[in-house]
Amino acid sequence: MTRILISGGGIGGLALAQALRGAGYEVAVYERDPAPEPRNQGYRIHIDPDGNAALAACLPPDVLDLVRRTSGANGDLVAAYTHRLEQVMAQTFPNTGDEAITCVDRYTFRQALLTGLQDVVRFGRTVTRYEVTGSGRVRVEFAEGGSDEGDLLVGADGVGSAVRKQLVPHATVRDLGVRCLYGRMPLTPDTDRLVPADFDRGFSWVSDDTGYGAGFAPVRFRTPPPTGVADYLMTVLVGTPERLGLGDEELFRAAPQQLWRIAVDATSTWHESVRELIAHADPGSFFPITIRASEPVAAWETGPVTLLGDAIHTMPPTGGVGANTALRDAQTLAAELSAGKPLLEAVAAYERVMLPRGFEVVEGSLRMADQMFGRAVRSQAS
Ligand SMILES: Cc1cc2nc3c(=O)[nH]c(=O)nc-3n(C[C@H](O)[C@H](O)[C@H](O)COP(=O)(O)OP(=O)(O)OC[C@H]3O[C@@H](n4cnc5c(N)ncnc54)[C@H](O)[C@@H]3O)c2cc1C
Repeated sequence: MTRILISGGGIGGLALAQALRGAGYEVAVYERDPAPEPRNQGYRIHIDPDGNAALAACLPPDVLDLVRRTSGANGDLVAAYTHRLEQVMAQTFPNTGDEAITCVDRYTFRQALLTGLQDVVRFGRTVTRYEVTGSGRVRVEFAEGGSDEGDLLVGADGVGSAVRKQLVPHATVRDLGVRCLYGRMPLTPDTDRLVPADFDRGFSWVSDDTGYGAGFAPVRFRTPPPTGVADYLMTVLVGTPERLGLGDEELFRAAPQQLWRIAVDATSTWHESVRELIAHADPGSFFPITIRASEPVAAWETGPVTLLGDAIHTMPPTGGVGANTALRDAQTLAAELSAGKPLLEAVAAYERVMLPRGFEVVEGSLRMADQMFGRAVRSQAS
């Protein structure tokens, strides 16, 4: 039986593992995290129609149903405002009905994707390198010791991918010079009244002319998830390190409460309704992230090692398409592998689709980042 090794048990790696298991492959996922606990990678993930199609293709019906039941209530609006809360852009979307998934909580989503994979995913295993054996198989090695061998290795190990660094060492990831301070405001009967009606309808972007922007989006679970995560409003402050007043070393060492304080101060002259949302956010929920984008990479010679998701095409979260693109990669790779072609032909067919598609999506996200953050970055540079 063909044995497939997946480095990374994030969104793309787990969706692929589900699809390949369903298609009868022997799969082993190696995940660096010691356990499937929440980590600082954001709270709310927007799922688009492509992501829905990929989830429907990859997941067994019971897992898809769990993801849907524990997703957030559908929104229908993306809007932008000045810091005085004057609307400058609004785009509405038709209500897609209860079948469609439009947003998920990252931790709850990951837990649902793990359903039924307990014997497949090994936590606390960091892939450090691989070697193609004389017989054309692949052996991976782990930082914790030990190794494993399979017919194909899929690097689904995110932006810092160890597999990418070995397979395409010339690939580069660019720092866009923007930092985000992510946090969330618990939605309780007390805080519910603080959320402007339109902010409850999807994603809202507020910006001033001093180089700060802030995003807001609710997750109101359709049914309470088994993870125990309760409804919240995602709150994120965006600015350059200069505008935030902290270099990276300090920023990434700062306590969550200090980051929350920066967000409170940054928005202190904004409309009261926006200030309230940051002021009532959970100070312990804040963490910083760097906004990055992969530079396009030319196709490489196909072999028994390939890449998927952020490992090859990282993009800024603007547009909310990184996870959706990782899910599409999983769908395409699983479909090619299941089509009965020889293994390397299937991998080549996947790479022919994945590479141009992934970098086209990166380009679109960069255009949107320029629209949203450009002013923040440019006002700092001048
Ligand atoms: C704040 C934020 C908000 C976002 N919002 C959205 C959104 O709304 N919609 C959207 O579509 N996308 C969004 N994205 C992007 C999305 O999160 C990523 O594109 C997506 O997670 C990529 O999935 P992946 O499986 O490729 O990588 P990841 O989900 O990052 O998974 C990689 C996994 O590999 C593991 N790993 C890393 N190195 C190793 C190693 N050496 N060995 C073993 N395991 C390893 C990691 O621990 C991790 O679990 C957002 C990103 C951020 C940061």
